[in-house]
Amino acid sequence: IRQDARPVIRQLDESAINRIAAGEVVERPASAVKELVENSIDAGATRIDVTIADGGKTLIRVVDDGCGIAGPDLPLALSRHATSKIDGSDLLNIHSFGFRGEALPSLGAVGRLTITSRAGDEGASVHVAGGRMGDVRPAACARGTQVDLADLFYATPARLKFLRTDRAETQAVVDVIRRLAMAEPFVTFILRDATGGDTRTLFRADGETGDMFDALGGRLRAVLGRDFAENALPLDAERDGFHMTGFTALPTYSKGAAVAQYLNVNGRPVRDKMLLGALRAAYMDVMSRDRHPVACLFIDCDPTLVDVNVHPAKSEVRFRDPACVRGLIVSGIRHALAEAGHRSSSTVGH
Ligand code: ADP
Ligand code: MG
Repeated sequence: IRQDARPVIRQLDESAINRIAAGEVVERPASAVKELVENSIDAGATRIDVTIADGGKTLIRVVDDGCGIAGPDLPLALSRHATSKIDGSDLLNIHSFGFRGEALPSLGAVGRLTITSRAGDEGASVHVAGGRMGDVRPAACARGTQVDLADLFYATPARLKFLRTDRAETQAVVDVIRRLAMAEPFVTFILRDATGGDTRTLFRADGETGDMFDALGGRLRAVLGRDFAENALPLDAERDGFHMTGFTALPTYSKGAAVAQYLNVNGRPVRDKMLLGALRAAYMDVMSRDRHPVACLFIDCDPTLVDVNVHPAKSEVRFRDPACVRGLIVSGIRHALAEAGHRSSSTVGH
């Protein structure tokens, strides 16, 4: 800024604001997939079909059989801070994946987005590219929603350059789907790769039935394999309003990298240093330092005891009493391992 030039403060237009917000919400194709699939789950879908091409860079398509969006509501769904999930009065009491009303407008700012949906008798479709929305048109479709996101980041070439190889981006998408599939065992998930025209299935898990415990066991086999299921111990522990369920593997069934640690807080898959640290600490005495435990944990508590609104991507959480949660995980897992005969050195007293 030149000294003699007076700086001008101006209000950015909606499309610039959306592109800036998109930088936080949509880091890579996998984050777009996460936002779209979470929307499908929030819509009560029982089946979610995801198709990607070229690591999600050229195409991400998510089709669900959820409640759909009524034609007249499509422009609203695409505008910033518009959501059907909260009314804004209680940010500490959130039961849905979404609540910020940012994903769709952000995706419309960084890719070519088409939404086709039917809530009632008539379907409708709308297209957005470069933040500009076309007219809502009638469309023939089944009940539910189809979102097509083409050419992600075509409008932000700098971001495009930061993406990794198609293979690495595909792997990140698979990981997102597996984590959401673990969190939602009753929903059918299908992920396909349509690169170059022919389609192959990357992941499939059919919706489980029965009670939660059976459903989780079934989903565990679908996501982590029969091997894990055979080496897994069920968990069930409680402390001061926090409840931990799930499965954790015997120390003999470990991995060379921390790739199979599925952590969920109030039904939401999270990546959280404190929780990962607690998991690690639980195995400290029974596993060498270069090995990593395999586990799928569900921490449930009153929504007011945890804040999920820490980051736009919502994969971080903040507990009101982290020490209590850590203690619950460490002692709950140690107890399960001890019962299975894998006493840690501290309990044996070496
Ligand atoms: P949020 O999920 O935070 O509400 P989004 O931008 O992701 O914000 O979506 C905006 C709104 O569009 C949602 O609140 C919901 O009403 C509607 N919506 C988005 N995706 C779907 C879907 N797959 N099925 C039904 N409604 C949807
Ligand atoms: Mg959303």
